[in-house]
Amino acid sequence: MPSLFSKYNHMARALNAIVTSGGRNPFAVTIEKMLSSTTGIIEGKETLLFGTNNYLGLSQSKNAIKDAQNAVLTYGIGTTGSRIANGTFSLHRQLERHIADFFGKREAIVFSTGYQANLGMISALAGKDDYLFLDADSHASIYDGSRLSAAQVIRFRHNDPDDLYKRIRRLNAPEQAKLIVVEGIYSMTGNIAPIREFVAVKKETDSALLVDEAHSFGVLGEHGRGVAEADGVEHEVDFIVGTFSKSLGTVGGYCVSDHQELDLLRLNCRPYMFTASLPPEIIAATTATLHEMQAHPELRTYLMNNAAHLRSGFVDLGLHTSQQVSPVIAVTLETEEQAILMWNELLNLGVYVNLSLPPATPDSRPLLRCSVMATHTADQIDQAISVFRQAAIKAGVIS
Ligand code: PMP
Repeated sequence: MPSLFSKYNHMARALNAIVTSGGRNPFAVTIEKMLSSTTGIIEGKETLLFGTNNYLGLSQSKNAIKDAQNAVLTYGIGTTGSRIANGTFSLHRQLERHIADFFGKREAIVFSTGYQANLGMISALAGKDDYLFLDADSHASIYDGSRLSAAQVIRFRHNDPDDLYKRIRRLNAPEQAKLIVVEGIYSMTGNIAPIREFVAVKKETDSALLVDEAHSFGVLGEHGRGVAEADGVEHEVDFIVGTFSKSLGTVGGYCVSDHQELDLLRLNCRPYMFTASLPPEIIAATTATLHEMQAHPELRTYLMNNAAHLRSGFVDLGLHTSQQVSPVIAVTLETEEQAILMWNELLNLGVYVNLSLPPATPDSRPLLRCSVMATHTADQIDQAISVFRQAAIKAGVIS
C-alpha cells in the first residue's frame, strides 16, 4: 500500500541528520518551567528566553493570573461552544467593546486565535469576484486565508507599495472589489511596513486595506495600537487584525473596523463559526493585560531600548542582522548547517532563540530569530550578546 507519509520522507531525513550530527530536534525543545517572564528551565537548566513573543512580559502578569482564577471560579473552565451557538459569554462581548474602544473603532470581533482571525477575515471578505493583494512575505495565516477564499490572489514584492500599485493598475479591474493585506511588523525579519505609502496606494486604487498588527500591537504607536497609529493613518485602514498571543501574553485574535457591516461576517466566517470560543479565564486574563498595557506605556520605551541594545550588539559583532529596530531581531546566516550549529550552541550556553529554516524564511536563507522583551534587563541582553559571540565563533560565522 502506498504510504501517506512518504511525502514527508525528506523532512524525516533532514531531522534525522540534525540529530545524528549531535544537534537537538529544534522542534522538540520544551520549556519545562517558567521562572520569570525572561527566564525558564529548558533541559533542566536555567535559560534566558529570547525566543518568545511575550514582548511586554505580560504572560506572567499577577493581575491577569488573579482575574483568570476568578473567572474560572465564576464561569468554569470552558465555553464548550462556538461564538454563534453557546460560546458567547458577556465576558466576550465586554472584551470586544474594550478592544473597539481602545482602537477608537466602531466594531470588534474576537476570534479563538490570531491565525483564525486572518483566516476568517480574509476568506469572508474576499469572495470569488474579488481580488486579494498579498505581500510576498505574508504570514502563513494570511496565505491560508487566501486559500480558503475564492478570490483571485496576486502577490506583490515585500514592503513595496510601488510594485503593488503597478500590479493593481496592470490588472485594470475598476469594477472588482480589491483587498490589500499587509503586516505591521514582519514576524521573521522585524521589517516594518511603510503603511502610510500603502494607504496612499489603497486610496489611489479604490481598494480596501487590512493590516495584521500581530507583532506591532503593544509595540508601536503612542498608545501601542500599532504601525497604523505610529504613521497617523489608523482612520484610513479598513480592517486591523491582531493577536492576544504576543504583547498581551494570552491567546486569541481580533479584528477591528469602522465598517458597520463587520457584524455580518460573524455569520459568514467559518473560522469564527465552527470552532469553540475562547475560555473565560483567557478572556479575563486578556482584559487584564490589555488594561495593564494601557496603564504602562513605559513598557514600550523599555522594549524599544532593549531592542536597540540587542541589535547594536549584533552589529558590533559583525553579524548580518535586522535593518530596523523592532522587538524582532533576526540574525541571517548563509547555510542551514551554520544556523543549526549556532542555535544548538546558544542553547548549550543558556540562551533560547528561534531557529527558522527555509522554506519558512524570506529569501530562502536560514535565520535565528530573537524576540526582545520590555522586561529583559541590560545584563541579560549583554549576556545574550556575549553568548551569540561564542556561538557564532564556534559555527564559523565570525572569527
Ligand atoms: N499573524 C502573524 C503575522 C503572526 O506572526 C502570527 C503568529 N506567529 C499570527 C498572525 C497568528 O497568531 P496566533 O498565534 O494568535 O494564532
